Amino acid sequence: MKEKEERKESFSLPPEVLEAAGKGISYELYKTLLLSFGKRGEKAFNYLKEDRVKKYLDFFVVVGEEEYVVEENFCTCNDFQINLKGKAPCAHVIALRLSKFLEHYREFDLYYVDYMGEGKVKGRYKKVRGKKQKKLK
Ligand SMILES: [Zn+2]
Repeated sequence: MKEKEERKESFSLPPEVLEAAGKGISYELYKTLLLSFGKRGEKAFNYLKEDRVKKYLDFFVVVGEEEYVVEENFCTCNDFQINLKGKAPCAHVIALRLSKFLEHYREFDLYYVDYMGEGKVKGRYKKVRGKKQKKLK
């Protein structure tokens, strides 16, 4: 039937999920998410319920075990990159889609790239820095 269309790169939320979302963050939404996406749907529901979707000036971020930069069809988490190989939405992408649909997110008047510089990004460059520091000793 329509299954071929759903294999496109851009993910879409099933109509029953959108319909349930139209009624708010309710048990019905939880149920349809769980049926459509299993554990990922359940997680997405909790991200919404717990206000863990944040909108920065440059990016949307979902706070899971870590903070993930999330776009409509992309997420920086391991689940999306490794398990799903970018072919299906992870919990964060589902949460982002829903939060946009519901306009339910926390807005920050900040650029996330600046904020990242304080944490994760620095961590990734640690090795390079370490080498330089050794030289100095
Ligand atoms: Zn993700």
